[in-house]
Amino acid sequence: MLIDTHAHLSFKDFNKDRDQVIKRAFEIGVEKIINVGTNLEDSKNSIALAEKYKNIYATVSLHPIDVENEKFDEELWLKLAKDQKIVAIGETGLDFFHSSDKEKQKEVFKALIKIACQVGKPLILHSRESDKEVLDILSHSKLPPKRGVIHCFSRDYTIAKKFLNLGFLISYTGNITYNKESSSSILRVPLNKIMIETDCPFMAPVPFRGKRNEPSYVKYIAEKIAEIKNITFEAAAERTTQNAKSLFNL
Ligand SMILES: [Zn+2]
Repeated sequence: MLIDTHAHLSFKDFNKDRDQVIKRAFEIGVEKIINVGTNLEDSKNSIALAEKYKNIYATVSLHPIDVENEKFDEELWLKLAKDQKIVAIGETGLDFFHSSDKEKQKEVFKALIKIACQVGKPLILHSRESDKEVLDILSHSKLPPKRGVIHCFSRDYTIAKKFLNLGFLISYTGNITYNKESSSSILRVPLNKIMIETDCPFMAPVPFRGKRNEPSYVKYIAEKIAEIKNITFEAAAERTTQNAKSLFNL
């Protein structure tokens, strides 16, 4: 059994065949899917999807690259964050690769950390070319009890260690199948701190690189982790599934 801990099934890329994609994932042994919200509309759609499917859970957030397009209403987000099927706040963090307003990004990130603490749910972190600033904000903030996860991790172990030290898990996706640099931290990050995800429709793993990604491909991430850690696929699947269940209270 596997859990895709980071999917964007509410994106329009799945409008034509969303139900089939979901069915396919459950058929090949994906037990649960965490569908991650990125802005107000997408977060509401994410909740709706989670209400439709028993084994899909949702998260809500205003993504750092979306902060320029929407006004952040703290009361409204707090209300959404309390929804029963919401298992985490995110993805949130900073993204300096995309050029949107850095100060606004920081402001929204801090507000969402506060909301995560208020509702006692973990954070799903996004960080792109901004690890130093993300770590700086986290280490100066009150954090939710179970902390959370840094998603789509592809930097080296020295950076992974800093997130681990703050109590966060590390989640890997398709880019670990692209090159050795992206998977270099896996050997040293303990298996009980690892989760797997697709980040679909993005980041399709080899052999589907460049195509639309989907939750059924999460098995390729478990396979890669098993290969690098020299353990069985079953061991990688089981442990990462347990880690997700425990973090998100599933
Ligand atoms: Zn994502």
